[in-house]
Amino acid sequence: MKVRVRYAPSPTGFQHIGGVRTALFNYLFARAKGGEFVLRIEDTDRERYQQEAMEDIYNTFDWLGFHWDEGPDIGGPLGPYVQSERVALYREHAQRLVESGHAYPCYCSHERLEELKAEQRRKNAPLGYDRRCRELSPSRRQESERQGITPVIRFKVPLEGSTTAADQLLGSIETGNTEINPDPVLLKSDGFPTYHLANVVDDHLMEITHIMRAQEWLPSMPLHVLLYAAFGWQPPHYCHLPMVLGADGQKLSKRHGATRVFEFKEKGYLPEAVLNYIALLGWSFDDSREFFTLKELQELFSLDRLNKSPAVFDYKKLDWFNGMYIRKAATRNLAERLLPFLQARGWISERPSAGELERVEALIPLIQERLTVLSDVVPLVAFLFEEVSAPPAEELIPKRLDPKRTVLVLRTVCSLLADFEKHSDEENEQRFRQTAEDLGVKLGDLLMPVRVALTGSRVSPPLFESIRVLGMAETLARLESALGTLEDG
Ligand code: GLU
Ligand code: ZN
Repeated sequence: MKVRVRYAPSPTGFQHIGGVRTALFNYLFARAKGGEFVLRIEDTDRERYQQEAMEDIYNTFDWLGFHWDEGPDIGGPLGPYVQSERVALYREHAQRLVESGHAYPCYCSHERLEELKAEQRRKNAPLGYDRRCRELSPSRRQESERQGITPVIRFKVPLEGSTTAADQLLGSIETGNTEINPDPVLLKSDGFPTYHLANVVDDHLMEITHIMRAQEWLPSMPLHVLLYAAFGWQPPHYCHLPMVLGADGQKLSKRHGATRVFEFKEKGYLPEAVLNYIALLGWSFDDSREFFTLKELQELFSLDRLNKSPAVFDYKKLDWFNGMYIRKAATRNLAERLLPFLQARGWISERPSAGELERVEALIPLIQERLTVLSDVVPLVAFLFEEVSAPPAEELIPKRLDPKRTVLVLRTVCSLLADFEKHSDEENEQRFRQTAEDLGVKLGDLLMPVRVALTGSRVSPPLFESIRVLGMAETLARLESALGTLEDG
C-alpha cells in the first residue's frame, strides 16, 4: 500500500515552528517511502479564519523549498483540498451515522447547555453534555423539528468499555470510554462540521495511511478511532510528535523569540539552516551527525529515529547553524542572498547592474566570517555605502594617546598609504608595525583612529580589506576629515 500523509493546518494564525516541523516530517516520510504528501486546509472555523494565514502557508513553504504533491493550489485526484468546499460531504457522512444509530440530533438550546455547565461547576462535577437527547422519543424529536429548531449532530460515545489505539511512537493507549468527551458535536447547527468529523472523513476519503501530528492532538485519538469504527473504516496509523519546548523547558512561545517561521527569513536566516535545524526537533539520524540537505533528509528520514521526549528549540543553536551555512556558501550565492538587505537600504538598486553585483561580491571576503544572520551585513558595510559623519574627537583618540599624538599617527598613516597598493597584506602589516614602533605607540593605538576615521566605528571588517574596498581616494578623504576634526578641536 502506498504511503499517503498530510499536513492539515487551520488558517487561523501564522505558520509556527511546531507546525512546520509537522509538515516537514510528513513530507520527509512521504519522500523516504516513495509516497505522497497532501496539503489540506482545515478552515471550518469561519470565525477564526484569516486570509493572511493562508498566504503565510504558501510563503513559508515556498521559502523553505518543499512542496506537497496534492493540495489546493495544485489540485489532485482526491480534492477539493479545502474543507469549506467539502461541507456537503460532511453533512452526508453525519447523516450516515445518524441512520446507522451512531449519532443523533440534539435540540438543546445554548441556554440549556450553559445552565448545565454552571450547575456542573457548582457541583464540582466533570463538565460535558448530559446526553439528554440521546434517547429522545420520536414524538419529542418531531416536536422539536416542528418548532423549527435546527439540531446539532452528536456522536454516541459508548457508555462503557474502552478504546484502544496504537501510536507508532507512544505505543498502545487504552482509554476508558467514560473518559471520552460525552457525545461530542460532529455537525454544528449551521451545517458546518467540527474538527473531529471533517478530519476523520477527509483522512479516510483522501486515503491517508499515516497521521503524523503534534502531541496536542493525542487526546482526540480515541474519539477518532471510535469514529472510524462507526463508519466501518480502517483507521490510519498514528504517530504523535513530541512537543517543542523553549530552552527553559516551557512550551515554545513568543517569550523565547520568533516562533513564526517566516520571521526567520526577514531576520536573515537561510532556509537550509532553518530547515536543517527544524528536522532535528525530535528526530536524529545518529548520535553525532547534524548537517543535512533537504535531499539527504528525504533519503534518511525514518520514524524509528523519532524521539519520544520533548524537543528543545535553542535559538543559539539555530544561530550557530546559520553561521555555519553562511560560511559554507559560495561567494556568488551569498552575494545574491545579501542583496535584499542592501536593497532595503537603498544601497543597491532593485535591478542591480553587473557592476553593483561585482561590488557586493567584493564585500564577501570582508564579512563572510562575521555574519550570524544575513541582516548583520548592514552595520558591517554601512561605511562603504554611506558618508561617515565626521566622528567626534573623543571617538578618534585612543585612551593612551592625546590629540596631538593622534594627529601625528594619522598623518604618518596617510604617508604610509601612498604606496599601500604596491605592497602585499603581510608587507603592509610589517610596515604599520614598524611605524608604530618608530612612533612609540602600540599597534592597536595606531590602527584604532584609522578604523574610526574610515568606518565611524571601533568595530569593522579587517582594516586593510576595508581600505581596498573603500578605495584610496575615499580613504584619504576620510582621514583628512578626521584630521580636520582633531586640529580644530
Ligand atoms: N487542523 C488541525 C491543526 O490545526 C489538524 C490536526 C491534525 O493533524 O489532525 O493542527
Ligand atoms: Zn440535547
